[in-house]
Formats: sequence, C-alpha cells, structure tokens
Amino acid sequence: MALPLSNGTAQVLLCGEFTLSTSTKDRYSVRLTSTELQVQKTGQTRLLLQLLDCIGCRAFKGEDSSDAGAYFSAYFYPFKKRWMSSGAVRQRVVQTFRVEVSQDPLENLKEAEKWAQAIRDSSIQQLPKQEGQLYSLLPRPCRLLVLVNPHSGTGHAPQLFHSHVQDMLTEAGAQYTLLVTERQNHAHELLREADLSQWDALVILSGDGLLFEVVNGLMERADWEDAVRKPLGILPGGSGNAVAASVNHYSGSQALSSEELLLSCTFLLCKGLVSPLDLASVTTASGQRHFSFLSVAWGFVSDVDIESEKYRRVGAARFTVGTLMRLASLRVYRGRLAYLPAQELPAPGLAEGCPDLPGRASLRCLPSESHSAPHTLYNSSNSNNSGKAPSPGVQGPADTLLAPLDQPVPAHWTVVKEERFVLVLAVYQSHLSQDLLAAPKATLGDGLLHLFYVRAGISRAALLRLFLAMEKGTHLELRCPHLSYMPVRAFRLEPCTPKGVITVDGEAVEYGPIQAQVHRGLGRLITG
Ligand code: ADP
Ligand code: MG
Repeated sequence: MALPLSNGTAQVLLCGEFTLSTSTKDRYSVRLTSTELQVQKTGQTRLLLQLLDCIGCRAFKGEDSSDAGAYFSAYFYPFKKRWMSSGAVRQRVVQTFRVEVSQDPLENLKEAEKWAQAIRDSSIQQLPKQEGQLYSLLPRPCRLLVLVNPHSGTGHAPQLFHSHVQDMLTEAGAQYTLLVTERQNHAHELLREADLSQWDALVILSGDGLLFEVVNGLMERADWEDAVRKPLGILPGGSGNAVAASVNHYSGSQALSSEELLLSCTFLLCKGLVSPLDLASVTTASGQRHFSFLSVAWGFVSDVDIESEKYRRVGAARFTVGTLMRLASLRVYRGRLAYLPAQELPAPGLAEGCPDLPGRASLRCLPSESHSAPHTLYNSSNSNNSGKAPSPGVQGPADTLLAPLDQPVPAHWTVVKEERFVLVLAVYQSHLSQDLLAAPKATLGDGLLHLFYVRAGISRAALLRLFLAMEKGTHLELRCPHLSYMPVRAFRLEPCTPKGVITVDGEAVEYGPIQAQVHRGLGRLITG
C-alpha cells in the first residue's frame, strides 16, 4: 500500500486506529512519520510527538488473560514550559495504545511489536554531520555498567538511581549492571582489570571524581588505546557535576540544577550519541601521569574545592560557601607559568580534521610577554635525558609537546612574567561546576585547554564580581585587568609557595611542578 505523505516532507511510515484501553470506545487515529508520532481523536486537535524526544517503545500483552488485545507504549521527554518561571525543561509523556486487529492475541501482539520496532528505529537519532567531528551511536539494545558513588554529593546517588534513572533505562530498553562503589578507588581498580567486552558503555552516577577514577583506571590497562574509547556516560550525582552540566550545555539546553539536570543527562544517555572527548595528560614532579577531562587548578579554585569538602552535605552550594570563606582570607600564590598558545604550530596528528581555532583577537587576554617565533616541535620521548626512568604504569600517548619537568620549557613557549597569582586554572569543558560557566566557548573535542589566570592585586570585590559573572559565563566581558585568558595546547606551572593544593578534575594531586598537554579526542563521551 502506498502511504500518503504527511504535511511537510516527512514520509508516513505506519497508520493505524487504536483505543487507549479495553474500557474506552474512543478510537485514535495514529500515524508514524519519519520525524513524529501523530495522534488524533475524531473532532479534536492533533497531538504531535517528536521522535527526537523519544527514548524507546515497547510492546506487551494485556494483564487480563481474557483481553485479546495487545499494547504498545512510547516514551517521550519533550521540553515543556516551566510553571511560573522562565525556560523549559524535559517532562515525561507516555502514550499507550491498545491494538486489536484480530481475535487472535498473537496477531495483535505481532502488530504491536511492529509499531514498537518502527517507533524505536525512527527515533534513533540521525548522526549530526559536523566537519571534523566523529560521532557514533550506542548499539541497541545496549549493555551498561552503571557505577554509583554513595559518598558523592549529599550521599543520595543510589536513591537517585532508583527514583530517576532506572525506569528511563528500562524505557530505553537498556540492560544494566549496577555497581555501588564500596570505597575510593574501587572503580579505578575494577576498570583496570575488568573484561570490558561485557558492556557497550560505562555510566557514572556521581560527581567528576568517580569519572576521574574510571578514566585513569582505563588508561592503566595494557589495552588502554581501545579501553579509553569505551563510551562514558555521566549522570550528576555529586556536588561538582561539571561534566554533566557541560554535556547539558553542549546539547543546547539551558542551565539546570539537580533533578532537572539528572533528567536531562539521563535523556541524553538514552539517546546514546557518542562524541570524541579531549583528555589532558598531566604530569607531576615524581613522574606520575594523570589523564584529565576537566581541569587543573591552583590557588583560589583548588583551595575552595578541597576546603569545601567539609560542607559536602549542602551539595552544590558547598562551592559558594567555600568561595565566600576563601574570599575573606584571600591569599597570594607565588610561582611560574608558561604555555604553548593554541596558535602555535599544532602537533602532527592534532592538525587532522581540526576546525579553525578561535582567534586570539576575539578573546580578552593580555599581550603575550616573551613570545618568540615557532620552533620545531619538542619530542619528550626522544629527549628524555634526565636519567629518570618513566615510572611504572605510566603509559598512554607520548607527550610530544612537553619537555621533561627538570628541563626548561621549549623556547617557543610563552613565559608569563607575573609570578604572583590569586589563581591559575586550565579548564577544558564549558563548566567548572554545575553553576560556573568558566569556558563558554569550550567544546568536547576542540583540542584546547582554556587557560585562565588572575594576578595578585585584584580586590576582593573584583574577584567576587568575576565569580558572580562566571555563573552566566560573562566574566571575560568584565574586562578585568587582573584576569588573563588564553587557549593553549600545553602549559607548565611551577609553584614557589612551599605549601598548597593543586587539583586535577577536582581531586588533589601531588603538589609541586606540574605540566599538561592536550590529547585531542582520545576518549569518548555520551552527549546529545
Ligand atoms: P563530589 O562531586 O560530590 O565530590 P565525586 O564523584 O567527586 O563527588 O566523588 C567524591 C570522592 O569520592 C572522589 O574522590 C571519589 O574517588 C570518591 N569515592 C568513590 N567511591 C567512594 C566510596 N564508595 N566511598 C568513599 N569515597 C568514594
Ligand atoms: Mg569531586
């Protein structure tokens, strides 16, 4: 049978007439097109449900054995305007239809299954086509390992899984193994050894700290190159939730908090679009190497992160409390900073498929201070003549942009003249926490470390203004003379202040000289 074209260009794939249950005689005319499910009751306006908002559909028999009909339920999460406030959030809409095309229950079930399959197939997102970007989709049905940290945030992540996540995974037809971590490093140790072929993706319901364990566990495997390409999904269950807030931001959604953010991220997980994720290789003085997806921080930001641990019970607000406390006793941190600007010659391999980098002219930053012409690229793997053997377990891609930490930075790097700072922060996702849009232009796979530093001499009021503006991502527009910003490929920080805290992705690491370089698209993250 030739099916008519729907309004517009979408092809009608299936047409049918169904009731909602055995008790009602009201019949609904239902049409599935390549983009939407159209539902109409005689004499009423047509309800249009976009397949982009659909996470799954399932067919089933009636509960009553005397009911010959079969059913199918489709699960949609369209944006709905918030009541009494601006913006829109996703809300669950379930459409269930009763199919009775014959007296034979099996025939009816077959018909319901045909609809469910067609709705599922049509809901699978078209892969977005963007120059230089490689996207993929999770297989269906997909098998997930869900790691939950009972210690993260306010300590309710396991409850959040049962109240918010579990049903959506079932609706999306995902199979999952739930693992509640028993201690710090449990996930790290597990993923260093586990047979990864059991799962299509690893999902983390926690803050950024558990994701850090997972990424570094994967990078310590002999098969790290394949292992780190296992798609990772992040659901906000902690107090930091920077990556979850970033994924929500990249999907085009407005900033959300707590449960709305969890719903948005679970929706994106169910849609299953996978994008390349930049990882930074961060090396400390003892030769330890961490793989980082979010940030390296020193000074004000890392102090707030670690000092606010004790206010964990207040959830994401712990950073606000910590910021106000640290502002009251503002410190100056002495050290040296150097970096490789993104405009310098990109490393071989980094250049491929690399879209134009943001121009320095469009960014608010100080003039570079001791900047010489590009030189040949530095290759640390063949110039490691420091006599130090690489530490055991250190593997992963070679840091071709870095010189060993006990040697000067390569001559073509920019060395910052200033040696007194309030903070140094490299961030490579849009959000530094749920409420701080630190690098509005950052994307998952831009190959950039967004380097910020605030020089000493800034007033408390000006620093507070910067953090308040960062909630909207407008801090660079303030043109604060103490704030500098530069997209870079690599940097080195050498603290002179004898005691302090450096964090990588919000986790405290060895304090002392530290350097990092970006590895573009090394990992994979489920996005929208
Ligand atoms: P938050 O955003 O609330 O800080 P994180 O995901 O960053 O949440 O987790 C906080 C810390 O908890 C991390 O350092 C992580 O390694 C650690 N962790 C993971 N599982 C456990 C556990 N079962 N018990 C205690 N700590 C854990
Ligand atoms: Mg944390």
